[in-house]
Amino acid sequence: MNIIFFSTKQYDKEFFTQANQHHNHQLNFLDVPLNHHTAVLAKAGDAVCVFVNDVVDESVLKIFAKYDVRLVALRCAGYNNVDLKAAAAVGIKVVRVPAYSPYAVAEHTLALILTLNRKTHRAYNRVKEGNFALNGLIGFDLHGRTVGLIGLGRIGLVTARILKGFGCSVLGYDIAEVKEAQELGVETTELDNLLQISDIISLHCPLTPQTHHLINEDTIAKMKDGVMLINTSRGAIIDTKAVIKGLKSEKISYLGLDVYEEEGDLFFEDLSNKVIKDDVFMRLLSFNNVLITGHQAFLTVDAMQSIARITLQNLTDFEAGKKLENEVLP
Ligand code: NAD
Repeated sequence: MNIIFFSTKQYDKEFFTQANQHHNHQLNFLDVPLNHHTAVLAKAGDAVCVFVNDVVDESVLKIFAKYDVRLVALRCAGYNNVDLKAAAAVGIKVVRVPAYSPYAVAEHTLALILTLNRKTHRAYNRVKEGNFALNGLIGFDLHGRTVGLIGLGRIGLVTARILKGFGCSVLGYDIAEVKEAQELGVETTELDNLLQISDIISLHCPLTPQTHHLINEDTIAKMKDGVMLINTSRGAIIDTKAVIKGLKSEKISYLGLDVYEEEGDLFFEDLSNKVIKDDVFMRLLSFNNVLITGHQAFLTVDAMQSIARITLQNLTDFEAGKKLENEVLP
């Protein structure tokens, strides 16, 4: 199949070209993100391959349909950026990579927790400058602390397992019943209880209408004073302005983000010579107890190999008219 890739980076090209040795699709890598203005570039394609911040809304899907694009292959797990009803209406199927490496994201979650707690990012700079003073670097033992996980799916459960290894007491809240929780020693509980007693709260649910701004002024008010909040899931699960208020009042003592609700205008690009015009984001950056990474939790060699392999298999299955294991339905 002729596949048009949007928002591609060098690492996408490398991993997909390698994995395509087993498939022989024609891969066309475009740097530009997908939106209403760039959708026409899919004109010659049978399918498109998109990433987390590509806009796959009704207007884009109608353009695809006009040019006979038959499949949208997401090279990620989340699908909040796709209008699934509009896709079904124009007869375009959508596939994704539901699980590629929950370890990649869970381990990055721990990287954020450990860095914020033990301030290794600040220590690194101090030691480089010959400053060996320790003031301001006091952390706390993770052992014995209570961590609340919102969402106990693939990533939430791997995160729970790692935290158990640290000797943490792990609480979980999920709208579904999660059988593995008990085996792992994770105590499932109501959201309010989790908010009230967790020292660290980490988000692992998808972005849906129900989870949009789940972390807001009301839910922050219920949290422990001095809480650590971590989001490696999707930016809009957090109301950023409410979190900034929580940081200013010192209710929130640590914030670790790999995702941000307006990241589409910032992340994955080198803007170091540009003026960043997002004042909310710049305010976040001004706190020394806030650590932000640019949506890189997925970025391991293992995850990239899985993403490329599963995405191309999804495309091959579609071409062969096979049942689509990873289809996303409205
Ligand atoms: P998953 O589908 O295995 O698990 C999600 C869990 O959240 C499920 O158990 C589900 O029941 C639960 N859930 C749904 N709605 C909920 C709600 N309202 N309240 C509480 N729980 C709810 O997904 P996963 O593989 O664990 O991934 C979780 C999320 O992580 C993805 O949706 C994606 O947005 C994000 N993600 C981020 C990155 C990154 O690079 N930062 C990479 C992969 C995935």
